Amino acid sequence: MTPPGADLLPGRATFEPTAARLAELLRGGGPDGPLFEAARDRLLSGVGDGVYLRGIVEISNRCRKNCLYCGLRRDNRRVRRYSMTAGGILDALRSGYAAGLRSFLLQSGELPEPDRIELVREVLRATAREMPGARMVLSMGELPEDVLRSLRDAGAHRYLLRIEASSRELYGRFHPGDGLHDHDVRRAVLEDLRATGWQTGTGVLIGLPGQTPEDLASDLLFMRDLDIDMCGMGPLLLHEDTPLGGMEDLLPPPAERVLLTLRMIALLRLMMPTINISATTALQTLDPAGLEKGLSAGANVVMPNLTPPDYRRDYDLYRGKSQVVDHLPEVLRRLGDRCAATGRRIVLADPGDPVHFLSRTADPARGAADAVP
Ligand code: SAH
Ligand code: SF4
Repeated sequence: MTPPGADLLPGRATFEPTAARLAELLRGGGPDGPLFEAARDRLLSGVGDGVYLRGIVEISNRCRKNCLYCGLRRDNRRVRRYSMTAGGILDALRSGYAAGLRSFLLQSGELPEPDRIELVREVLRATAREMPGARMVLSMGELPEDVLRSLRDAGAHRYLLRIEASSRELYGRFHPGDGLHDHDVRRAVLEDLRATGWQTGTGVLIGLPGQTPEDLASDLLFMRDLDIDMCGMGPLLLHEDTPLGGMEDLLPPPAERVLLTLRMIALLRLMMPTINISATTALQTLDPAGLEKGLSAGANVVMPNLTPPDYRRDYDLYRGKSQVVDHLPEVLRRLGDRCAATGRRIVLADPGDPVHFLSRTADPARGAADAVP
């Protein structure tokens, strides 16, 4: 008899599961040991043992959207709204650059106002001048095609836009049906990003009320079919000032949400060995050992927070999001120790471009795109 999980074990060239097999593994219908072991093996052969750092600056918490789970949603009047200045953002980036970071994420609520976009362009242009070798990642929601192009021209390289749920029906349950939250539009923006030369990242929320292992299996297949370069996916966490705030009982318990997230990471690593996968802040918020567990399941990116203390507590996506501010070199030292304890090493002074992106752009047959500048 074939031992359980034998199809996952190292040595096989590709892992091409059916949706049913993925759902079974997500349910815990295969022992997690072989799953995580195989994912680690695929990680090492796909991207190596390095852990890349992406410094995040949460540039504004103003948002026009109303996602039912998010503390920054438009209708949450209890948030003190802020927008950082270009100078403030650049100071935060400079501190990261000085510490050896070469990849930076600018994240905000969705607000495609011309002033906001111009400010981001200004920051991108300054970064290109001042910080050679840095890769700029944006996560600002759905933006029109011409705006995205102008941001790329100003010096952005990567874009993160989580599909949140690949099922239109599931997405519809957690987003108002007001025309502003349109699954088809979100998907089209992602496909455009992928087709126009961006290093493209997406991800999903794990543990939504009513979400099934079959839904999560479809999410994995969606990411594979989109041929993404990067993924950040994490457990849903509740925020008391949102419509989902009191629904703890409808979610899988925290330990189960953590395990589901780890299985999702491991399965995606097996399916897409050369992409970048992050050990998300949400995973680390739900489990104090989330960093180590995420890395051991197949993640290779961690995101130290560079947002200045004055703003950090107001970028309140969910309850418990870390607001601890520390001296960056000290944060990096501790992070280095924790990675080393799992047999991994932090890579500084390297932007950590996804191997997947580099190989697909070197091979035009796999999807035309510009090379990294
Ligand atoms: N406004 C942009 C980017 C910032 S929000 C956008 O929505 O694309 C970044 C991510 O935070 C979202 O994609 C969502 O997946 C995650 N998020 C929001 N609320 C959350 C919650 N309550 N628990 C876990 N993740 C959450
Ligand atoms: Fe706005 Fe993003 Fe939060 Fe949705 S998830 S409310 S778009 S910040």
